[in-house]
Amino acid sequence: MPRRAVRAVLALVMVAAAVLVGTAAVATAGPAAPKDGCFTWSHDLAEGASGDDVKQLQIRVSGYPASGEVIAVDGEFGPATKAAVARFQKAYGLSETGKGDSATYNKIYELQDDDCSPAHFAFGELNNCNSDWSGGAVSAAEAKSNALRTMWKLEAMRHAMGDKPLRVTSGFRSKACNDQVGGAASSRHLFGDAADLGAGSHSLCEMAKEARNRGFHGILGPGFPGHDDHTHVDHRSSKYWDAPDCGVTN
Ligand SMILES: [Zn+2]
Repeated sequence: MPRRAVRAVLALVMVAAAVLVGTAAVATAGPAAPKDGCFTWSHDLAEGASGDDVKQLQIRVSGYPASGEVIAVDGEFGPATKAAVARFQKAYGLSETGKGDSATYNKIYELQDDDCSPAHFAFGELNNCNSDWSGGAVSAAEAKSNALRTMWKLEAMRHAMGDKPLRVTSGFRSKACNDQVGGAASSRHLFGDAADLGAGSHSLCEMAKEARNRGFHGILGPGFPGHDDHTHVDHRSSKYWDAPDCGVTN
C-alpha cells in the first residue's frame, strides 16, 4: 500500500478508537479529556523559569499584556509574563497565582484545538491567500506562528468583549495576494500577524479601542486612509496606533 494510503487507514483506525473511547467516557460519565493534542505542560511554571514550555504559555497569554504592551514570546518567564498569566486567570475566574499551574493549563486545554489554535479562530480564517503560508515577507513557518499569536490575542479580545464573534476579513497575504488587493508594500499582512476585522457584533471603533489592551502594537481604523470599513490589528515592533475617528492614537 502506498504510504499515504497506510496513513489514511491508520488515521481512520485512530478516529474509530477515539470514538470508542469517547463513547466509553460518556457511558461512565467521566470528565471530558482535556483538549491537549497540541501541547501538554508537565509541571508548574513560575517567574524565573525558562524554556519552550514558557514560550508555549506566553503565546497563549499574549492577549493579556499591560495596555499598549506586547508580551515577548522569548521563553523567559519574567514579570510581564507573570502579570499576563494573572490577567488571564482573572479573565476566566481562576485564582490569580501568576503561575502556570494545573487550573491554568486546564483552562488553556479547554480553549485550544489540537492544532494549537484557540477555540474561536482557525488558521484558515487567518489565511485566505494560499494554504502553505509561503510567499510573504518571512518564512512560511514564521508567518504561521505569527498568525497563531494573533489568534490568541483575538481570542482574548473576543472574551473581553463579551464572547461575541469577531469577524476576520483578511489575514496572511503572500506578495502576490497583497498586490492583488492593493495592500501597502510593507504591509504586516505579509508577515502573517495582521488581521482585518469587519464590523459585526462590535463597531470598528469598539474593536480598535479594545485592541489597545490585547497586545497589538499596530492598530489602524476609521479615519486612517483606507480603513473606514475595517479595523486592522498587528504586532509590528514599535507602536503605531492610528484610528483618529475612534480617538485611538499613539
Ligand atoms: Zn490590514
